[in-house]
Amino acid sequence: MSKKMKLHLIEGERCKSCGLCVAACPRQTLGIGANLNRQGYAYVVQVAPEKCIKCNICRIVCPDVAIGVIQAS
Ligand code: SF4
Ligand code: SF4
Repeated sequence: MSKKMKLHLIEGERCKSCGLCVAACPRQTLGIGANLNRQGYAYVVQVAPEKCIKCNICRIVCPDVAIGVIQAS
């Protein structure tokens, strides 16, 4: 995958704090954050973005389509 690919949490409001992406990430780059979204869920944040290998697994496993991996400009 291109090194220009960059991970973004595109919809924190969609996150239900299930932790699937945190468990699935092979580089432990994701974590449940301290802030709550409007639904009252603590949403996921990147805790070590420099470790991300852009494998896309987090996006695939998220049942709420809260994560996107998009092309950086
Ligand atoms: S793209 Fe891969 S390495 Fe990066 S946060 Fe998602 S699961 Fe982890
Ligand atoms: S898999 Fe999706 S809904 Fe679950 S914690 Fe991760 S971003 Fe949130």
